[in-house]
Amino acid sequence: MSALFGNYSRRPIHLVKGQGTKVYDEVGKEYLDFTSGIAVLSLGHTNPILVEAIKEQSEKLWHVSNLFESPEQEQLAATLVKDTHLTHGFFCNSGAEANEAAIKLARKHKGKHTIITFENSFHGRTFGAMSATGQAKVQQGFGPLVDKFIHVPFNDVQALESVMNGEVAAIMLEVVQGEGGVNAVTAQFGEAIAKICKEQGILLIIDEVQTGIARTGTRYAYEQTALKPDILTLAKGLGGGFPIGAMLGTAEMYDTFSPGTHGTTFGGNPLAVAVAQIVLNHVFEESFLGEVLKKSEYFKVRLAKVLATEKITVKGMGLLLGLDCDQVVAPLITKAEESGLLLVGAGEGVIRLLPPLTVTYEEIDDAIAILADILNN
Ligand code: PLP
Repeated sequence: MSALFGNYSRRPIHLVKGQGTKVYDEVGKEYLDFTSGIAVLSLGHTNPILVEAIKEQSEKLWHVSNLFESPEQEQLAATLVKDTHLTHGFFCNSGAEANEAAIKLARKHKGKHTIITFENSFHGRTFGAMSATGQAKVQQGFGPLVDKFIHVPFNDVQALESVMNGEVAAIMLEVVQGEGGVNAVTAQFGEAIAKICKEQGILLIIDEVQTGIARTGTRYAYEQTALKPDILTLAKGLGGGFPIGAMLGTAEMYDTFSPGTHGTTFGGNPLAVAVAQIVLNHVFEESFLGEVLKKSEYFKVRLAKVLATEKITVKGMGLLLGLDCDQVVAPLITKAEESGLLLVGAGEGVIRLLPPLTVTYEEIDDAIAILADILNN
């Protein structure tokens, strides 16, 4: 019997080594990793610039409490908010923690409790984030949940308008629902949310834990929409594989998080911050972002051409793509794995394609060849 709890259905592959987009199991079999540790490895596996950053920092200082000032955290926050309307950052260790901070900040700032989120959303597994999540299967058996979250159908303006009232503190959404099926917010819905928030003085929390940090070809996915967050949450790609999360907010909210209101022991740890700074220095470069968009276009056009069946729809933004397969995808993912391509699902019927942002065109071609073989037969 395993010494671990059974809360993951683990695939029978033991990965021991990785470089760029490629990973290797214990018997030396090579795989193309189009999961990126679920949207985490923005610069690929064991990128030498990140290895160097970790090595260098590990010889200086591993941990220091947030009781002391941190010019490194200051610089990382400044890089994240540069050229945006956001002004301040708070660092934590994961996406769920970033969302907990966002929920606390929104409630305290507005002095109200209701937060509207969306069906099929995913915001994390801690109590606040799980309660915000619009998927019953995530919540089952854990009640009572945190109160005052209202879940509304995604991309449905009328449904959203029908639940608005004076008690609403914030609307919280993902620009592309990652876990929930790779569903992008429509232009019309984005505009409606922006208008409602502005007219009714409601905060907008955007969860970019999966879509942020260049994953969609812009620094943040919201930049491609009419949405303008008061609070933005990040994690996954920020540390390029080292755990770190962040919550960013506007100047208006600065006083709400006064000393003692919120905190974490490990958040903004020197090792995490050192790696994240190097990640941002690379992925926020205009030329890098442009390449992500080019690769995305290349990937989408080829997929649409090569996939014979009309039952498959390609969707998503940047290098967060989904293949809506109109069937249960778990057996297809297993077949791809046997052919040397690692994939992850998004709900029951969608295959998610999340290569490292450094993926090469040749690797995209190789992945497409495997996908075509599996999906067209
Ligand atoms: N928010 C979104 C949009 C996510 O995709 C995830 C994880 O998949 C989370 C929050 C939770 O992040 P973490 O697993 O780091 O707590």
